[in-house]
Amino acid sequence: MLDMIAGATRPLVLVVEDEAALATMLRYNLEKQGFRVEEAADGQEALTRIAESQPDLVLLDWMLPALSGLEVCRQIRRRPATRDLPVIMVTARTEDQDAVRGLNTGADDYITKPFNTEALVARMRALLRRAGAVPAKSTLSFHDITMDLSTHRVVRGGRALHLGPTEFRLLEFFLQHPRRVFSREELLDAVWGKDIHVEPRTVDVHIRRLRKAINGEVELDLVRTVRAAGYALDTEAV
Ligand code: CA
Repeated sequence: MLDMIAGATRPLVLVVEDEAALATMLRYNLEKQGFRVEEAADGQEALTRIAESQPDLVLLDWMLPALSGLEVCRQIRRRPATRDLPVIMVTARTEDQDAVRGLNTGADDYITKPFNTEALVARMRALLRRAGAVPAKSTLSFHDITMDLSTHRVVRGGRALHLGPTEFRLLEFFLQHPRRVFSREELLDAVWGKDIHVEPRTVDVHIRRLRKAINGEVELDLVRTVRAAGYALDTEAV
């Protein structure tokens, strides 16, 4: 359920890879980096998935059964709905010459196996930024708070707020889902990430800091504590 809630801001990547072990490794690493991941094991399935799920980016293996990566890429470019969909071609070292052909066919970039996840993620983010997929919205607001995602400035009623990185992400998440109550575990998953082990009470510490930063001396408390349930960004703070 949380995946769906947070999904709006997490880019969806379609991993097209016929080697199951590599696909699993990619899914694990990309999810850890905040992406949502879907998989397709051959070229035909890739085209079906793209039409159904409308991913933000496709990671496309060159050597695939049924339909080659090259052909999949051609078809992506041929269809008006996917003409601008970012595609990164994944090749083996021996296929480097082919990769250059792949770029001619319309892939935006290519990466050679074996590659490290950081290099891949950096290229993915660059492409997504160019495609305008990240961030989806440049400002978020609620009540008298406005957050500018491109400059990282947060203002409340004309007063600039100074937030630590964790408080910023917490507030960003709350601003995306105002008035909704989230448990500590949900906040941990959404703000810290599923694979990082943090004690639930750490959330309380950061909520306290967030409260202190956004609520001045006399301003309305916008962080609502819901006993036994969690926290929400709300004007009805109790
Ligand atoms: Ca392959």
